[in-house]
Amino acid sequence: MSEHLTADVAIIGGGLMGCSAALALRRMNRSVLLLEQGWCGAQASGVNYGGVRRQGRPETQLPLAQRSHAIWQGLPQLVGSSCEYTVSGHLKLARSDAEMGLLEEYREQAEKFGLQLEILGRAALRQRYPWLGDKVAGGSLCASDGHANPRLVAAAFALAAKRHGADIREGATAETATFDGTRFTVRASKGLEVKAKFLLNCAGAWGAAFAEQFGEHVPEFPIFPNMWVTEPMPKLVEPNVGIVGGGFYVRQVARGNFVLGGGRGTGQLAIASTRPASASMFASMKLACEFIPALQNALVIRSWTGVEGMLPDHQPVLGASVTTPGLFHAFGFSGAGFQLAPAVGEVLADLVVHGVTATPIQAFRIDRFSE
Ligand SMILES: Cc1cc2nc3c(=O)[nH]c(=O)nc-3n(C[C@H](O)[C@H](O)[C@H](O)COP(=O)(O)OP(=O)(O)OC[C@H]3O[C@@H](n4cnc5c(N)ncnc54)[C@H](O)[C@@H]3O)c2cc1C
Repeated sequence: MSEHLTADVAIIGGGLMGCSAALALRRMNRSVLLLEQGWCGAQASGVNYGGVRRQGRPETQLPLAQRSHAIWQGLPQLVGSSCEYTVSGHLKLARSDAEMGLLEEYREQAEKFGLQLEILGRAALRQRYPWLGDKVAGGSLCASDGHANPRLVAAAFALAAKRHGADIREGATAETATFDGTRFTVRASKGLEVKAKFLLNCAGAWGAAFAEQFGEHVPEFPIFPNMWVTEPMPKLVEPNVGIVGGGFYVRQVARGNFVLGGGRGTGQLAIASTRPASASMFASMKLACEFIPALQNALVIRSWTGVEGMLPDHQPVLGASVTTPGLFHAFGFSGAGFQLAPAVGEVLADLVVHGVTATPIQAFRIDRFSE
């Protein structure tokens, strides 16, 4: 080993979860050493769709999402950039009365968590959003949801954590981690050895493999959501738009480009190689064109995907290890961690500093699959 380092907390992974935790911990005066195998924010956190949405989340995620929502409002003060975060509203479309029934039901559930949704019937919806096609049966608007530029967010959290004194090592892969009953020893590439009292597993789609070292088995598998972007078009669509069942999602950025998602691509986790799949992408684009006819004239200029860790119940792993004291996990956000990340960082910092958090995270415990 050529470099021996110590810190209160070692963090594996420089995605949004790891960087947000690094910042929260520095704000609580804990020394932090973060290891990222590539570049901070280059994986899921930097290539995602950019939806900052609470609408549609399961009840179990709403307290965490609400905590995050409050943090998103103060992003410039927290990380020094707005990251193009826009409170545009999130509009979920329905194509039938049955789907409208689901939206009504969800509105009642969400209200219990302080999330206000407005249900709009077909006529009211088309009057407010004349760019919608005639297939739409109605929709649900969460006026306080929005979107942001994912290319900027994780990088901004990483830089803010650095400014606050976090030691961030990029190009450093954590290869092994052990616990001697008091401290963790993490051996990483470039001859790094890190000793720390606490260890955070924020390794995204690689999180379950990391947890295995501590005898914790999680059925995480990689997914590769398709993304694509059109040429800039005249400004038309204000809200971030999705549809019941998730066939497509679309947002228009200030410059005029439409960013869309839908269907899944392919990839290989071991070599972090990912590729969008044209058949499922075209099927989603066709559906999007039926609901937003102006998209029929849009030229697609780029498509991509990224790798995300998915769990069978579509919920993340977040909380304490059941085998190893001082180890905390935050991975497998199942395609929906972008909005949650600022609160996840604070929750991890709560757990390290106080041993508990006020935000309910019981549904995300790591041993739920072994029951
Ligand atoms: C295409 C796509 C679209 C999405 N759209 C949305 C959306 O609109 N809204 C939403 O809320 N969520 C969305 N998500 C999900 C969201 O992006 C993720 O849930 C979130 O970014 C996960 O953050 P993370 O830090 O856990 O993972 P990552 O960003 O993947 O970071 C994990 C990091 O750990 C590093 N790492 C792994 N193993 C090691 C190791 N041994 N040593 C060192 N470093 C290691 C990796 O290199 C990586 O950088 C989307 C995801 C994808 C892929």
